[in-house]
Amino acid sequence: MKQPVSETFAEDSVNEWDGDTLHEECGVFGILGHPEAATLTALGLHALQHRGQEAAGIVSFDGLRFHSERRMGLVGDHYTDPVTLARLPGNIAIGHNRYSTTGEVALRNVQPLFAELEVGGIAVAHNGNFTNGLTLRRQLIAGGAICQSTSDTEVVLHLIARSRYSSTADRFIDAIRQMEGGYSMLAVTRTKLIAARDPTGIRPLVMGELDGKPIFASETCALDIIGAKFVRDVENGEVIICEIQPDGSISIDARKAGNGQPERLCLFEYVYFARPDSVVGGRSVYVARKNMGINLAKEAPVEADVVVPVPDGGTPAALGYAQESGIPFEYGIIRNHYVGRTFIEPTQQIRAFGVKLKHSANRAMIEGKRVVLVDDSVVRGTTSLKIVRMIRDAGAKEVHLRVASPMIYYPDFYGIDTPDRDKLLANQYDSLEAMCRYIGADSLEFLSINGLYRAVGGEDRNNARPQFTDHYFTGDYPTRLLDKDGETMGRKVSVLASNG
Ligand code: AMP
Repeated sequence: MKQPVSETFAEDSVNEWDGDTLHEECGVFGILGHPEAATLTALGLHALQHRGQEAAGIVSFDGLRFHSERRMGLVGDHYTDPVTLARLPGNIAIGHNRYSTTGEVALRNVQPLFAELEVGGIAVAHNGNFTNGLTLRRQLIAGGAICQSTSDTEVVLHLIARSRYSSTADRFIDAIRQMEGGYSMLAVTRTKLIAARDPTGIRPLVMGELDGKPIFASETCALDIIGAKFVRDVENGEVIICEIQPDGSISIDARKAGNGQPERLCLFEYVYFARPDSVVGGRSVYVARKNMGINLAKEAPVEADVVVPVPDGGTPAALGYAQESGIPFEYGIIRNHYVGRTFIEPTQQIRAFGVKLKHSANRAMIEGKRVVLVDDSVVRGTTSLKIVRMIRDAGAKEVHLRVASPMIYYPDFYGIDTPDRDKLLANQYDSLEAMCRYIGADSLEFLSINGLYRAVGGEDRNNARPQFTDHYFTGDYPTRLLDKDGETMGRKVSVLASNG
């Protein structure tokens, strides 16, 4: 395997999470039976770049051997190069965009992870986070297992290796039945592409088709980029096994691995993560975000001259707010698209600097105006603090911050990995007024939980079918939190490098 970046190994086999980083999720893509498998995977990963910008990897199989390229950085930095793509021959490929949940950015954790097992080679790529990954890993290590990475995905490979079942597909199902948390996972063997979604369907995963060949991707935008057809969502608790038959045809075997739990897709996919042109759980992300802005204008109106989005996340909600309120929408903030997402910078200090690098005030649209500033979410408050100050410095008469999601009180453990509770802005102030004073706005309002539910699914929280998971707002976690509960809440928590 050719690796242009040398591997760096941290001292600890399991990292200490300092709780100071909020990271994004990851993206996965896989295709079976297509002669351009690796190139299509690179394109799919490019469309999913917003889900993780730290590293990207592709594993292919050419009928004889597996090929793996894993690189730090953006998909476009590496996988547009014909030389790199030529190293990934074959008609089966899976790929992964990574954003880790720990400070460690070692190449050894970049996915897909490959292992040579008794039943043959297998590579896995995973979006989400296991809530019992650390517990299982400790048990495996105590039993003599040797771990090559600090990624929780490696646990799955160990469980597949140890399974008593004979076929790879059965072993895979046996392994994921032991995992808890939120995950959308792809695996590739010599003849199979396997896709799985966790029993509550926290992370999204769709099935598509191109020239009759099956594709799986985190979001529909990865199908659109290659002109593939959307087939359906992978259901919660479902495992789909696609296999190339000896006559070249492809069989598709969909099985249930979950225990019949209801689906609870992560609401944050609609609030922030997914690309607006994606359709997640059958709903347009753009429409959901615009509805959030419409509901926000109904719930929290204000007299103002101009609605300004915090781009890009806040833009659809700001359009909705402007439409509902009748206040003109203007680009009062210009975003520099050549800077990565704010959260890529690891420390609070640099993160604050990053916000300034990314956004600048468009004085012509702000000076002397009463501004309604619309953002999709407030986590630590870093962005709000900087942007409100920036808008004031550009001459705004008033700044009213409207947030198109409720206050975040609880950390996520399913691939978002929000910071410790005490670092969340909502937990630092006991009143909205105090929070507003800290941010420096003239007024501050958040969308209600029912306003958010209605924006996404049309119904209030109690009537929503299917239900969603909204644990970061409510503390109502959809699964057990085995790893976390083994630690003291609020203290430093040891976690595995998650797969975002
Ligand atoms: P903060 O500055 O900590 O309050 O974070 C809120 C800002 O970060 C908003 O502008 C969001 O668009 C964005 N954001 C929300 N969630 C995430 C996430 N998981 N990763 C990166 N950025 C995020």
